[in-house]
This record gives sequence, structure tokens and C-alpha cells, in this order.
Amino acid sequence: MSVQTHNITLIPGDGIGREVTTATRKIIEASGVKINWDICEAGAEVFKKGLATGVPQETIDSILKNKIVLKGPLETPVGFGEKSANVTLRKMFETYGNIRPIKEMPGVATPYHGRGIDFVIVRENIEDLYAGIEHMQTPGVAQCLKLISRKGCEKIVRLAFEFARSEGRKTVHCATKANIMKLSEGLLKRTFEEVSKEYPDIQAHHIIVDNAAHQLVKKPEQFDVIVTTNMNGDILSDLGSALIGGLGFAPGANIGDDFAIFEAVHGSAPKYAGQNNINPTAVLLSGVMMLRYLGEFNAAEMIENALAITLDQDRVLTRDVVGDRGAASTTTFTDAIIKNLGKKYPRSKVRDFKPLKLPKVDHRPDMVRPSQCQVDGVDIFIETNQPVDVVGKNLESLANATLFQFKILSCRGVKVYPNPSLKDPDVVDHLCARFTAKDATDAAILDLLQKIGVNYKWVHIEKLNAYDGKPAYSKTHGED
Ligand code: NAD
Repeated sequence: MSVQTHNITLIPGDGIGREVTTATRKIIEASGVKINWDICEAGAEVFKKGLATGVPQETIDSILKNKIVLKGPLETPVGFGEKSANVTLRKMFETYGNIRPIKEMPGVATPYHGRGIDFVIVRENIEDLYAGIEHMQTPGVAQCLKLISRKGCEKIVRLAFEFARSEGRKTVHCATKANIMKLSEGLLKRTFEEVSKEYPDIQAHHIIVDNAAHQLVKKPEQFDVIVTTNMNGDILSDLGSALIGGLGFAPGANIGDDFAIFEAVHGSAPKYAGQNNINPTAVLLSGVMMLRYLGEFNAAEMIENALAITLDQDRVLTRDVVGDRGAASTTTFTDAIIKNLGKKYPRSKVRDFKPLKLPKVDHRPDMVRPSQCQVDGVDIFIETNQPVDVVGKNLESLANATLFQFKILSCRGVKVYPNPSLKDPDVVDHLCARFTAKDATDAAILDLLQKIGVNYKWVHIEKLNAYDGKPAYSKTHGED
């Protein structure tokens, strides 16, 4: 055990949060690790006081000072408070990597028990659809922007490989939907293929995310580390927690360059708050991840052994595992783990844990610099309820008086004019007109927009960029 005292910000949180963090704190302290806990507020009570972020300045100051947080779940209240305080904390402290281990628990019966499930999902935590950038483009059509950056991909891929090395794991799968979203999800796949060459000691495979879901149910023991985008990772990790006995057993860590926030996957389960009957294991195992992050490897292993003995040999099990009859209370379960500290669980699989080496990624905003950029044209989205033939013909003739050529009209990604694949396409009030030009200038685009604006309400535009001579935009379904 190290003689060092660690300074940690502890956010008990809402609902069952106080019970699960108290149990975790007691067990960590009993393991002999010295921690100076700075107990801070965030979540429901803070929203009620009228602070829209749910995270007070004193809590932010404590995290800035300590850099490491153990956190209970925070409720996202309906009716007051705009955004989730959980997401605010992850974004504010740039914890770009969400590490979620899924490991079979000794003594916890599930349909998968005995198959040796032990994998980790490394989920990108900041970008993708979860940036929550949404707009109604027309009264009938909503847009959510899926922004994926090369920098974000490189950080999460390197973190996945570094995490694999820190735990002596041998394989990393990258799960994407790059077959459909070739540019956005494809950027993660391409970055993974490049970066994986720097980790020859680890096998690297790409897997399409829907097949990953299928394989996780069919043969979960084949996975070691799965790196994936934010939304895919959220779904796959909840699926994973169900394989090993539910949310009571699913820990997590949010890792950034400078800060780390350790928290369970589960929420505040308000129905069970204050009843002394919930399972504190998920937060306890998040605490174990925190101990390894702090270099306290012996204490981490000691707690894992005590937990395994409590579950498998002593059969002290909480309500979520055995139902109401014969269930141990949260405090009884906690005391049983403390009593077992120092004992060795005979079937424990000892990994070769090493300190996690945080990846260093180029910090320049423009870390990708093509040597040649040009604009091949523009997509202009308009709100209209006119028949597509009328819109198509109008835009075709309108383009004659500009530097652009009208190419096609599409609706939700499918060509509807000219010669649509479907005879009578089902359209909505939102059409996209594609115009091409040789190296389109901003002035030419503004001229085109002005001309379109006389007869149509344009709602959105996208430049058709080409980098180093390659189109950096997708074709429409049905486009030549
Ligand atoms: P939840 O995870 O709180 O609870 C769902 C169910 O899972 C519970 O009813 C319970 O049956 C079970 N469960 C969860 N944790 C358990 C534990 N430790 N022991 C035993 N059983 C457990 O999900 P929810 O009900 O959808 O969300 C409740 C609140 O939590 C919401 O306000 C939500 O926004 C918030 N939330 C917070 C986080 C976080 O803080 N990271 C994550 C998810 C949800």
C-alpha cells in the first residue's frame, strides 16, 4: 500500500447515490489506502436552488484542484435544469474516454455464467450525436448533427490501445457503422487502422456495430476491448451490463488528459433511495478502477478478492441478485466485504496490471492539413411543399443565370428529380438541391442563395469540399 494520501473530490449524488458512495468509501478506507475526501454537491438539490448547470462553483474548484472524482449518480430532473449535470461534468473536464468493463461476477447467476465474460468498452464520450446539436430545419424535419473529429478519433483509439496494454489485454475491436456513414463513422475506422500499426503487440480488428451487438449476445467471451463512438458505446455497454447480472455490477471511468471521473453506469434509481437495499458493487468497482489509476494496485486487488468471496463463498447477495427473500442489506453487504479484506479468492484471474499511459495527441485545432482544398459545389436545403418536378425545373432554369449547374434534387438522402428511382416518391417539406461548379467561391454561393431566396425559403447549406482532389461529401442514393 502506498503511504501517500490522495486528494479526491467525492460527489455522493442523488437517489441511491449517498448509499453507494458511503459503502465504497468505507471499503476503500478499510483497505488501508489513505484518502482525503472533499465532499461536494451536484445534481438535483443544486438544480432546485436555481443553478441551471447543476454543478456549483465550489465543486468545479474542488475538481480543478484534485483532478480526480468519485461520483454517485446524478438525477436529470424533468421540469427544471436544462442539461444533465453528468454530461456537463464530462464535457467541462474533457473526459473524452468512457471506459466500461463488463466482467462476469463470481457467484452471480446469469444465463452466461461460466463463460468467462471479461471485456471492456472504450466509448468516445464527447462527440457524435451526444454533442446534442439539434435543429428543426423545417416544421416537419429535425436534424441532429453527428460531428466526429480526427482528433477525437485518435484520442479514443490511442486510449483503447493504451488501456489494453495497461491490463495486459491482447485484442482491440473497433465497432463502427462505417459501411453506411463512410465519412463520420468511417473516420474512426480509418484512424483505428492507422494507429493500430503502432501497437503490433495487440491484435486489431474492425467489426460492424450491428454485428458486434449480435456477437455480444452470441459469444461475448470472444471480446477483450471494444472501442467505439459515443452512441454505439452507450447502447453496447448497457447490453454488456445485462450479460453479467445488471446495472448493479457495471462500473465506469471517464478519462481525460488532466481529469478523471469514476462513476457507475447506473443512475439514481429513486425508487430504492434510502431503503438500504441496493447493490453498491458498480460504484465500488468504479472505485477499484480509481485505485488502479492512482497506482494503488494491491488495494484494488484486495477489494476485488473480498468482493468475490462475499458473493461466491459467503453468498451475501443484495436484492437485485436474489429478490426480496434472503437478500442482504447494503450495509450488511458492505460489512461482509470489509470482513473479507485480506483474504484470497482462489479462482481470481490475476491480470498483469500496469499504470495507464495517457496518450499524447497533437493539440492543434487544425491537426489535419490537406495540401489542396477546393469547393466542388453546394447543397442547398429548402423548405417547400411544391411538387418536386416544379421545384426541380425552377432550380434548373434559375442556375442558368449563375456559375453553377443544377445536378439533382433529393429528399432525406434519396434522389427525387430528375428521373427518380421511385415513380411516385414520398416526400416531406424538406428538399436538398445539389449544385456543382468548378471551384465555387463564397461570392458565387451567396449569389446563388440570393437568387433561390426570391422564390424559396432556404433553411441550410453545405459546401461540397474536396481535399487533395478527393470529394469530401457523400453521394445521394440514386446519384450518378
Ligand atoms: P437507473 O439506472 O437509475 O435505474 C434503473 C433500474 O436499475 C432501477 O430501477 C433498479 O431496478 C436498477 N438499478 C440501478 N442501479 C442499481 C443498483 N445499484 N442496485 C440495484 N439495482 C439497481 O435508471 P433510470 O431509472 O432510468 O434513471 C434514474 C435517474 O438517474 C434519472 O434522473 C437519470 O437521468 C439518472 N441517470 C444518471 C446517470 C449518471 O449519474 N451517470 C446514469 C443514468 C441515469
